[in-house]
Amino acid sequence: FTKNHKSVPVADKGWKDGEAVPYAALVSTFEKIEATTKRLEILEILTQFFLVVARRDTAKLAKDSNLLKVVYLCINRLCPDYMGIELGIGESLLVKAIAESTGRAATKIKEDLRKEGDLGKVAMNSRNTQPTMFKPKALTVPYVFQQLTDIAKATGNASQTKKVGIIKKLLAACQGNEAKFIVRSLEGKLRIGLADKTLVVALAHAIVLKGMGEKKIPHDKLASKLEEGAEIVKSVYSELPNYDLVIPALMEGGVEGLKERCKLTPGVPLKPMLAKPTKAIGEVLDRFEGKQFTCEYKYDGERAQVHLLENGEIAVFSRNSENMSAKYPDLVQQVPRSIKPSVKSFVIDAEAVAYDLETKKILPFQDLSRRKRKDVRAEDITVRVHLFAFDLLYLNGESLLTKELIDRRALLMEHFQPVESEFAFAKSSDGTTTEEIASFLEESVKDGCEGLMVKMLTTPSSTYEPSRRSMNWLKLKKDYLSGVGDSLDLVVVGAYHGKGKRTSVYGAFLLACYDPDSENFQTICKIGTGFSEEVLSQFYELLKPLELEVVRGDIEVGSAKPDVWFEPKIVWEVLTADLSLSPVYAAAHGLVDSRGISLRFPRFIRIRDDKSADEATTAEQVSEFYQRQVTAGGKKGGGGGGE
Ligand code: ATP
Repeated sequence: FTKNHKSVPVADKGWKDGEAVPYAALVSTFEKIEATTKRLEILEILTQFFLVVARRDTAKLAKDSNLLKVVYLCINRLCPDYMGIELGIGESLLVKAIAESTGRAATKIKEDLRKEGDLGKVAMNSRNTQPTMFKPKALTVPYVFQQLTDIAKATGNASQTKKVGIIKKLLAACQGNEAKFIVRSLEGKLRIGLADKTLVVALAHAIVLKGMGEKKIPHDKLASKLEEGAEIVKSVYSELPNYDLVIPALMEGGVEGLKERCKLTPGVPLKPMLAKPTKAIGEVLDRFEGKQFTCEYKYDGERAQVHLLENGEIAVFSRNSENMSAKYPDLVQQVPRSIKPSVKSFVIDAEAVAYDLETKKILPFQDLSRRKRKDVRAEDITVRVHLFAFDLLYLNGESLLTKELIDRRALLMEHFQPVESEFAFAKSSDGTTTEEIASFLEESVKDGCEGLMVKMLTTPSSTYEPSRRSMNWLKLKKDYLSGVGDSLDLVVVGAYHGKGKRTSVYGAFLLACYDPDSENFQTICKIGTGFSEEVLSQFYELLKPLELEVVRGDIEVGSAKPDVWFEPKIVWEVLTADLSLSPVYAAAHGLVDSRGISLRFPRFIRIRDDKSADEATTAEQVSEFYQRQVTAGGKKGGGGGGE
């Protein structure tokens, strides 16, 4: 790639310096990406496109920048996640809009969809049969971006009609393949196999190349500059996941000094650090041998990243970077009581747990999930929450991410104070023998926790690693030690009609894991036992509106044959006795075997509404679970807490 980066045909992409990027130019980039599965090729295509866009972008105001909008359309978002403006229009509304804009019957559109499996292609192939007086103006990236934003923001009674109106206008102006991508964007997913990771690297490369201008430098030097640039942008974006801030900074000053210019900022949630599962205390000791580590209670609630902004505002964000301040008005009121006067701004990582004020005990997760998710009024709250803080990421203007955990924890304890029934530090023990860990694990379960989190305490590996599932944080879940060490979070992609008494509901479900590299969901098991009649009818209500005419193109089916397919949206936490290779299911195929992997005796635990479908357990994690089970040499069921 580095050899031919100058080969971009700079003059012939159909627009001039300072002009709006034609949507057709973006679509032709999407087409090229869709046509290949090779990661390096995708990286090259995207880099070249970003480079042309960046070179011609003369926007004075960041919000007018073409590059910013191009990037958002590539990841199919309209703003940073935490601002909550999302696409994801249901199939029936889209069918209606396509029918109305093309003058074809909705039944015909559905028929095509059953054959084609991709509503985008159906829209593209549904040539407008109605005569038009004027040829509409060609679509541009800023225009499409604005229309999509208007659709996503439309609320209230007349919003459906308004949405259909805008979609019709967009479709009427589409030329060539544009309708395919407009419709896919509206559905919420482009399905071109472009991973977010690749996009960040392409962006970095384009900015580095732009900064070099016509300068010629040796190939190896260029390669290392590109690599260095990618590392910088990746690290900055994981601290400050907001392209509205990062892209203008890149356009202004390149990658040089970006880390100083774009830092963790209260108000912008960073992606949380995640943990690896373990099956036994012995595994923990192997990993941390000779290192200083700490065990903390693993509270069973909802992750809460709490921010105090310079302006005094408190904001609470979920694991998923969703703003939950309106869900937790009580937390917002409580938190100031646990802050010492020395604190002007902070970001803490914590778990919000349901709490019984009378018995002064932690309540199970199920109680927390009884709280409403939105617009909660403080006076209506019946389920109280207690915050357990386990990390301090930012304090008084300074990011603490690169400090060791031992120092972050000391600062947390110095600047915050426990408040009875409201705020405490996660209980910890620095004991390191098997016996000490086993007894702390027992104690945690007695106190209503799920088990332990074991963390590196000193050494450079104890820094906070945003968005990474790190080996420096291990989870030891008591209930799961005898299974595969952890539960899986799987997406409901299909269902089987009930039999006998259950004919009016679904009787069993088809689940899938997620493969971020291909952006596909891969079927993993059928689950049908252990549901009560009541639960089954609740699931029916929840899932019926997600039924599809045909299976979506981003579901790798294997040979599973459910009676209905769903839009992949709902995530369930599921437990399994073990995993086995399967000729039927597609999960993780090609990673350990050409066959897929399936769960044996899967059991439903709970709905994970704090996780979106693309945050489900990944194909790679499934293959790791399987491999660990194989290397454990059939010691299934062994390795319990007291091993
Ligand atoms: P994953 O994607 O890793 O499966 P998850 O959301 O399903 O994440 P768990 O596997 O249960 O969660 O484990 C990690 C979660 O445990 C954290 O996201 C956090 O919400 C919770 N937690 C509770 N106590 C702690 C603690 N002391 N330190 C870190 N996380 C904790």
